[in-house]
Amino acid sequence: MNFDQSNKFAPKSDLKIWLNGQLVPPSEAKISVFDRAVLYGDGVFEGLRIYGGRVFRLDQHLKRLEDSARAIRLEIPMTRNEMAQATYETAQANNVTDGYIRFVVTRGVGTLGLSPHRTACPSVFIIADQIELYPKELYENGMAIVSCSVLRNHPNAVSPRIKSLNYLNNILAKIEALDAGVLEAIMYNHLGFVAECTGDNIFLIRNGVLQTPPVNAGSLEGITRNAVIELIAKRKLPFREMDLTRQDLYVADECFLTGTAAEVIPVTQIDGRAVGPGQPGPITRQLISDFRELVQCAE
Ligand code: PMP
Repeated sequence: MNFDQSNKFAPKSDLKIWLNGQLVPPSEAKISVFDRAVLYGDGVFEGLRIYGGRVFRLDQHLKRLEDSARAIRLEIPMTRNEMAQATYETAQANNVTDGYIRFVVTRGVGTLGLSPHRTACPSVFIIADQIELYPKELYENGMAIVSCSVLRNHPNAVSPRIKSLNYLNNILAKIEALDAGVLEAIMYNHLGFVAECTGDNIFLIRNGVLQTPPVNAGSLEGITRNAVIELIAKRKLPFREMDLTRQDLYVADECFLTGTAAEVIPVTQIDGRAVGPGQPGPITRQLISDFRELVQCAE
């Protein structure tokens, strides 16, 4: 398969990357070819947003990072406070008051075998930069998405609740989306129920009731998802966490996705079928506006 090579990425040369306690330029921000993150995707990560100089729900992100690490038996060589401090230090060093932060922990350098026992110290790095996951007009007009054939990982394999450095499954799903000419794909679980999208959680609205798959349907417990559930509760809107089928997607009145990078984005077409009248619906618009307000005022 050929990918478009005209849009090659190069990091900004004036970025300062936090790498194991030091802020270094991208040219020095390197990890070994023997790092298990490179050899096996052996590590965990978080994606965070900073708004007005404040990292949104930093503690929840760090807790999820610790949970991911604990599940793969990786000990992060930093306390929660140290991680929080390093996150702010990186944002400040890059003058990022509104942007995106990537926090990565790898298992570190090891031998070529699978066993993690002979691994040196885990590596930690943090990148603070800008992100525009989807074009602005899609937030106004809504986006089209498709179902894809790649299933979300079985919960008894690598649990989808672990935000591990191995995202190949989701990347394959994303490639299907791009092949279909859209930017996001819906992933189903091994039972045929909707799990989530490749990097976003999904919500539907049907007859005034908000619906989202439960976390054990194979989704990441999104921090944005949880923030939106709080906003739904605040507005006293009917809400159900429930198994959703492909048919539920096709008969929804409204649909939106949530994620740290995506924030809250309306979906107006699924598998070639218009969602409701094919325009972002009133409940979606209300929640987008509530979410914008929340992130600006969040402590
Ligand atoms: N699902 C997956 C697979 C993700 O990678 C993400 C994060 N991009 C989400 C959902 C959304 O989670 P959050 O709101 O915590 O960013």
